Amino acid sequence: MNYDHILIRYGELALKGKNQKFFIRTLHANLQQALSDYKGLSIKGQRDHMYILLNGEDPHPIIERCRDIFGIQSFSLAMKVDLDEESIKASTLAALQKEEGQTFKVVCKRPNKDFPKSSQEVNRVLGGHLLRHTDDWEVDVHQPDVEIRVEIRHDAAYITSGKIQGKGGLPVGSTGRSLLLMSGGIDSPVAGYLTMKRGVKIEAVHFHSPPFTSDRAKQKVEDLAQTLTKFGGDVTVHYVPFTELQQKIFKEIPDYYGMTVMRRIMMRVSEQIARDRDILSLTTGESLGQVASQTMESMNTINEVTNYPIIRPLVAMDKNDIIDVAKSIDTYDISIRPYEDCCTIFVPKQPKTRPRREKVNQFEAPVDFTPEIEKALNEVETVVYKNQTTQQTETFDDLL
Ligand code: ATP
Ligand code: MG
Repeated sequence: MNYDHILIRYGELALKGKNQKFFIRTLHANLQQALSDYKGLSIKGQRDHMYILLNGEDPHPIIERCRDIFGIQSFSLAMKVDLDEESIKASTLAALQKEEGQTFKVVCKRPNKDFPKSSQEVNRVLGGHLLRHTDDWEVDVHQPDVEIRVEIRHDAAYITSGKIQGKGGLPVGSTGRSLLLMSGGIDSPVAGYLTMKRGVKIEAVHFHSPPFTSDRAKQKVEDLAQTLTKFGGDVTVHYVPFTELQQKIFKEIPDYYGMTVMRRIMMRVSEQIARDRDILSLTTGESLGQVASQTMESMNTINEVTNYPIIRPLVAMDKNDIIDVAKSIDTYDISIRPYEDCCTIFVPKQPKTRPRREKVNQFEAPVDFTPEIEKALNEVETVVYKNQTTQQTETFDDLL
């Protein structure tokens, strides 16, 4: 007798009251997409759990893939059996024999009250049956090594054992969309990942300065975006040509305020792209105190140019913890490839660590960046990275 289902538990998702249906539909769609190359599967969403019917597929690679999907608290392999005592006995025995350990407990739930035995009776009958038909197992009702769960429903009984942890969080797409400012560095992909974990669908914007930044620097961003698709389905990246703006900043703004102005312009351009795409927030990889652009004064001065909400999931995290997450999501090795991005190229040796709003406004006042900003927006290249291997390029206009 083999496992023919994967049982999926929602955790937090199940608590969401009226939105529950929407959350479940979103998770269902995300799973469908993540497993679209398995043609034989069928996924059924119910109020308090979801089942994947395996139809003969090996469950293990499927569970591995589902572990990257947010909104899932845990998984168990499950068997669906007919509603008669002999079948249930045989299946629970088969389930226990697949496990390792010394002690077990049977936990029965009986939503189907037409079934002739109560949960307690089922526990007793099955416990006795398992003890009689195995050699080394004992019952421990407090801390068993293995819990065999039996759910008596109207259509059938479902038998599960073992529990594999999911990532938790909320299904991507269930809480809106955000535009991630993504460099090729370590932090921003982690910020994207953590934002996705709260159910946000991410699009990204990347500023590059060809020919000063190389194709390899851009390739890093492509690879990072592709890696993030594993968690959130398609990731759209808007590549903004930033050379002319950076040259103008370099020419017109005193050296030590160059970086502050550059960040402010990045914010303005990003907000505009977000508006055009009906996206309601920006996300960055900023972490307080990490570098010159991330002091309290810098954040205050850079933030002046936008009243868009800015999600900063890393703001209170230590670098080592950020690196741990980066490693766990396979972005770290991509991020540390040594190719310069636009920020490092024009950045002065001694950027102002405590820039002030009055000062930067004074420096920006005589310079009109609008024509270059508009030109950059017109020349944005947009690429949609698809979950798994397929990929396609679309122009920005196609997407508007
Ligand atoms: P990261 O590791 O994400 O590059 P960082 O520690 O290098 O972060 P900064 O260089 O100060 O920090 O950048 C702060 C944030 O600004 C980044 O996390 C990212 O969100 C955004 N950013 C920086 N450079 C770019 C870029 N070239 N394109 C898009 N966003 C950028
Ligand atoms: Mg960086």
